[in-house]
Amino acid sequence: MSLSHVVTYSPAYTVVPTYECFNRCTYCNFRIEPGKSPWLTLQDTEKILTRLQSQEVCEILILSGEVHPQSSRRESWFQLIYDLCDLALSMGFLPHTNAGPLSFAEMAKLQEVNVSMGLMLEQLTPQLLQTVHKHAPSKVPQLRLQQLEWAGKLQIPFTTGLLLGIGESSTHWWETLDAIAQLHENYNHIQEVILQPHSPGAQQTFDAPPFNPHQLPEVIAKARQILPVDITIQIPPNLVTDSSWLLACIEAGARDLGGIGPKDEVNPDYPHIQHQQLTDILEPAGWELVPRLPVYPQYDNWLSERLKEAVNRWRSASLLEESIK
Ligand code: SF4
Repeated sequence: MSLSHVVTYSPAYTVVPTYECFNRCTYCNFRIEPGKSPWLTLQDTEKILTRLQSQEVCEILILSGEVHPQSSRRESWFQLIYDLCDLALSMGFLPHTNAGPLSFAEMAKLQEVNVSMGLMLEQLTPQLLQTVHKHAPSKVPQLRLQQLEWAGKLQIPFTTGLLLGIGESSTHWWETLDAIAQLHENYNHIQEVILQPHSPGAQQTFDAPPFNPHQLPEVIAKARQILPVDITIQIPPNLVTDSSWLLACIEAGARDLGGIGPKDEVNPDYPHIQHQQLTDILEPAGWELVPRLPVYPQYDNWLSERLKEAVNRWRSASLLEESIK
């Protein structure tokens, strides 16, 4: 099987420190009102992680709702995220955090315990601040662009992406992709760009149809032209449920299916398609589904000694290959 016929995914489990979030994006199917979502404890997390040690999991995605930067609870929220990453790392997993915009100091601190980090750019157009992001101060495009820039300055391998079909135009897609390409040219730090089709869920108030999956291959093909070749395009297979269109997306240039675990916390109405089912779709079309780590090999030398050791254990022993047999 040639490398050009490889599609990757990350065997992952999502840990949610809290669902509370001070933003109110109208398409959200994740958030709970601040104060109404008890925070995860380290003890409970350790129990979950102990169970996962015998399963096919490498990446621990720490995905959190946001506590306001000015809140008196921000520091303890941030400390919990740090401690969860530290725990996961000490148990042999590779943490990747996505917890909304962070201060430069917070980002630098989390870098100690994350092999990569992520934040969706969503869309650069400020128009959405009048609509779906009207009550979401964290979704100010310049704030998010700055996060990508800081990640570059800090040399944090980074995942970002676009949410498609939330009221933007196709011109906005190309502008957003151009901005990502530009930042990558400056810092070389974007490992993946996710193209996520809006897929309505039971909780959201945004009343709009799903992004037409038949349009996705076209967007991927254009994104492939805009983005530098070393950035991988990722699509979430549970949101492209028609297998022929999933294959069309791959033909168009998508080469990664993201973290596959028991539950898609962001789109809880769309269960993940599991490994065997994905293989059954991909293999007859000549594609090999291969697990990957949450950090791409070209970034290994950006990592601290502690992180490098954890990554090397997975790479050198081919633990990942072993674990999915
Ligand atoms: S989409 Fe993210 S930032 Fe927006 S309300 Fe939901 S959890 Fe908060």
